Amino acid sequence: MTMPETDDGSVCARCALHGGTCCALRPGEEELCFPVSAVERARMEAAGARLKHFTRQENTRAFAENLARLFPGEEEALARLFPPGGGHDRLTILPGGACALLKTDGCALPREARPLYCRLFPFWIQGGRTLYFEMESCQAQRERRGGAGLGGILGMTGKDIHGLYASLRTAWGLQEKK
Ligand code: SF4
Ligand code: SF4
Repeated sequence: MTMPETDDGSVCARCALHGGTCCALRPGEEELCFPVSAVERARMEAAGARLKHFTRQENTRAFAENLARLFPGEEEALARLFPPGGGHDRLTILPGGACALLKTDGCALPREARPLYCRLFPFWIQGGRTLYFEMESCQAQRERRGGAGLGGILGMTGKDIHGLYASLRTAWGLQEKK
């Protein structure tokens, strides 16, 4: 039975019950996980995240290519921030592919303590425009059958999305986008 649709953001908890969430990667793709900056890590640790929830990851070519797709035209800045041979923190991914902080009813952390990428997902900004990553297993997209009303069901306004994206850029060390 489908749970009633609400606009309070609880769709992500329903998504966790169905097992298809953005909190899991395909095993073998761990290196593609987004970076967790020092400021985000500190906020997570203050909310209960432990050493075991973080993994040091080498800045591999696949990681760099993924970042370049997210921030087209900013390859030089990205190479300075995440130089080849260097490393960054990411979330620990369990052998099945799920984030170590994922519980049966969703993320173990309160929303405001989660990494900015998690809080922004499935939205992204490119060229000043709000986009979303299409994902079949996203419960919010299933319930809204695509993008219309997606912000509402996830409890996010356009201002929230732009604000989170700006905070993510700052946290990751990228300059403010005009
Ligand atoms: S930190 Fe929380 S929201 Fe982010 S991937 Fe892990 S479980 Fe999901
Ligand atoms: S954003 Fe979509 S995929 Fe991620 S937990 Fe929420 S409903 Fe699931």
